[in-house]
Amino acid sequence: MERETLDVDVLIVGGGPAGLSAALRLAQLQQADGGEPLAIAVLEKGREVGSHQLSGALLDPSALRDLIPDFEAKGAPLACAVDNDSVYFLSPQHKLRMPITPPPFQNHGNYIISLSAMAKWMGEQVEAAGIDLFTGFPAQSVLFDGSRVIGVRTGDKGLDKHGERKGNYEPGADIHAKVTIFADGVRGHLTKELTRTLQLGVHQQPGQFAIGLKELWDVPAGRLAPGSVIHTLGYPLREEEFGGSWIYAMPDGRLSIGFVVGLDYQDPLFDPHAAFQRFKLHPFIASLLEGGSLVRYGAKALPEGGWNTQPRLHFDGGLIIGDAANFVNSMRLKGIHLAMRSGMHAAETAFEAVRSGDTSSAVLGRYKTRVDEGPIKAELYPVRNVHQAFGAGLIAGSAFAGLAMVTGGRWPEDLHGHPGHTRMRRLADYYGIDKADILAGSNAVVPDRKLTFDKVTGVHYSGVAHDEEQPVHLLVHTDVCHTICGDEYGHPCVKFCPASVYEMVDNGQGGKRLQINASNCVHCKTCDIMDPYGVITWVPPEGGGGPQYDGM
Ligand code: SF4
Repeated sequence: MERETLDVDVLIVGGGPAGLSAALRLAQLQQADGGEPLAIAVLEKGREVGSHQLSGALLDPSALRDLIPDFEAKGAPLACAVDNDSVYFLSPQHKLRMPITPPPFQNHGNYIISLSAMAKWMGEQVEAAGIDLFTGFPAQSVLFDGSRVIGVRTGDKGLDKHGERKGNYEPGADIHAKVTIFADGVRGHLTKELTRTLQLGVHQQPGQFAIGLKELWDVPAGRLAPGSVIHTLGYPLREEEFGGSWIYAMPDGRLSIGFVVGLDYQDPLFDPHAAFQRFKLHPFIASLLEGGSLVRYGAKALPEGGWNTQPRLHFDGGLIIGDAANFVNSMRLKGIHLAMRSGMHAAETAFEAVRSGDTSSAVLGRYKTRVDEGPIKAELYPVRNVHQAFGAGLIAGSAFAGLAMVTGGRWPEDLHGHPGHTRMRRLADYYGIDKADILAGSNAVVPDRKLTFDKVTGVHYSGVAHDEEQPVHLLVHTDVCHTICGDEYGHPCVKFCPASVYEMVDNGQGGKRLQINASNCVHCKTCDIMDPYGVITWVPPEGGGGPQYDGM
């Protein structure tokens, strides 16, 4: 079958806040320029714009204000303005409020939003500006001409479980572009390919990540005033684990509640989902949720490593923006505004490059100059060592974060982070006792289906859907699962996946085999990051598959 090809001037891969900001900025530049219109296209793997977008979310509106000055008049979906902040340290039964909210946690002037709703609204603005937005089209691979990026190939449709063509088979299309802007999100599979092929990360530190699990709840009116923002540290995490929680109150009794855990924990049996469920049983949190009902569930990894983990951002024919470039301020727990800003910088650079007829890395390097001379570096550089400092524990990390605030980030030598999965310790090293005893004393929480739920119930509340008849999109490259992993690590994939995708089942011969329930996958990327052997690769499933994060 013939593969279709499409030629555009600028291709944006990913319809999140970074990609949509790039598209809108391009439309604005084109309108101001008045010359021959550029052909611009946006590819989004979700079945609609916003369906794969999940965040807390608190929006610093600085970039949105620069992009769409009248965003409020245009109906941007802002749930409410932040009214008050508080930070608590939790012990198993008690809470201690910090007398002063540390500056990074102060959110005056920010908004509580649903990122999914915001992306949907931005998508409407993009389409109204006349830009083609193709949903349900995952980019499968990068197209190269030597070391020059010339576009992407979208995924085939209509393959069965064995990769054989079904009656509805359609080969993916090749989309050629003068400039391709990669906005494929946290641990983007295309950015990974680019980083490997073009050696984009050789001068940078390894990426650092966390997993964020989120639930939306409807609770009785008056439980928490809209605009209330609560963050917690401590229970149920231990000193050695990085993370904390958020609770954001929106109108009509809707709460966004979430839990973040660094994907660099040492305990191979640690289960982030179980920790989240245990957190909800804390008397303080339970008092907020009791009598309420779960509305939605989801999970997503987030890039925490900061400034020193950004890959080279430009190359012949392409740019990397947003979460794919690790533009998140982990100290402020914010990245949406940085994603938007990077999309705007990339659009301005791509527009100039296409107009000048030179889309080489040298010309596209103006994007990096804009990042360095603008608000992104001003915000990220001073806190470049903060996440790395938490590798030494909560107390050391908090002390370093305080120092970074006082000194503006001045420090004799930058701290070096390690890939998170290399910190996971073997069962025998971590527990030092017989493995059978450990597994018997599992850290699971028995769900009460009022406050706590199992992972499969969570999957139902994520709205996830995939065509079951397609190749598995989680590629496991060796057979360590059946041989050494159980003894060495106790099958941590079963624990760290928040959607029960990985299961060790009876192989009928007295042993175990790995069963991959790929249709449960919520596309969080945790397995791609945290597998201790580094043998799992996430690739996009057939277009349109995945979660449906309405309101998340
Ligand atoms: Fe996340 Fe991987 Fe589980 Fe999918 S399979 S939900 S990407 S951990």
